[in-house]
Amino acid sequence: MKQVTIVMYHYVRELRYTKYPKIKGLLASQFREQLLYMQKYYEFVTVEDCIRAVESDDTSFPNNAILLTFDDGYIDHYTTVFPLLDKFGIQGCFFPPAKTILHHEVLDVNKIHFTLAAASSFDALLQDVFDCLNRFRAEYGLESNDYYFAKLAVPGRLDPKEVIFVKRLLQLGLPEAPRKAIVDYLFKKYVAEDEAVFSRELYMDTDQIQCMIRNGMFVGGHGYDHCWLNSLSSDKQEQEIDQTLEFLKGVGAPTQDWVMCYPYGAYDQPLMDTLKKKQCSLAMTTHMEIASLNPEQSLTLARLDTNYLPKVADSNMAPWTQKALNHG
Ligand SMILES: [Zn+2]
Repeated sequence: MKQVTIVMYHYVRELRYTKYPKIKGLLASQFREQLLYMQKYYEFVTVEDCIRAVESDDTSFPNNAILLTFDDGYIDHYTTVFPLLDKFGIQGCFFPPAKTILHHEVLDVNKIHFTLAAASSFDALLQDVFDCLNRFRAEYGLESNDYYFAKLAVPGRLDPKEVIFVKRLLQLGLPEAPRKAIVDYLFKKYVAEDEAVFSRELYMDTDQIQCMIRNGMFVGGHGYDHCWLNSLSSDKQEQEIDQTLEFLKGVGAPTQDWVMCYPYGAYDQPLMDTLKKKQCSLAMTTHMEIASLNPEQSLTLARLDTNYLPKVADSNMAPWTQKALNHG
């Protein structure tokens, strides 16, 4: 059975020299070290190699194949990641959501990250969130603050329960309309009055994406709106995919034998049927595993978060690396 370790990255930046050092991301220096670690144990492959491996009976595909993927279209991918990949001779696969590049909007998920990173006092932010709930309660028929807190505030692996509460409430814990209204209010108050200005600082632009493609990088789809695609009707899903393909065509990325990356890793069978119909070859989830390359699983490829592999070049072999190498 052919397999590939697909690694998932988001922010890659030298955080302490940025305006928002509290953003959770991989440091540029760690990225370089991780590439050196990978060079020791893995064989870098391209998206095209993976597509061929799915479609052919050729069994020579290496067990230690590795493919690097970068979600959400951050400017980091152009300024930090691309020069290093170019230097190492590695192909990266990039997934920018169309609306950020075409219309200079900021993804809700990014608004939440930056609001949390910008708040100097978390208590004040928490109070603002409760004030927002109070303000919107009558209009949207919201439950009491205690109700939401009891339901959503559970301590996490990395965050205290108050932080988890704010994240979950703003990500999924409220109906769409009040959720968006609160996210927008907090983003404007804590981060940036002008969303388009912030968007141009946060994401790549079309010329930068085209430059990466000219230099051998692969660009795939990450939806238009970066929404939970499994929550849409199949008509709406198809509309999202068409807008995604239009974007890819516009930047000169493949629209046949193309690659999709599900926002939030969310997909369902009707979506996969639509992708097949639209000649999508591979699709990435956020399921943490080494991906199997075969026609049955080509639209549900697992990935490993960058945090699952060492960020120091001469680290001992990580369990996920052992697992890949021992595969027979
Ligand atoms: Zn994403």
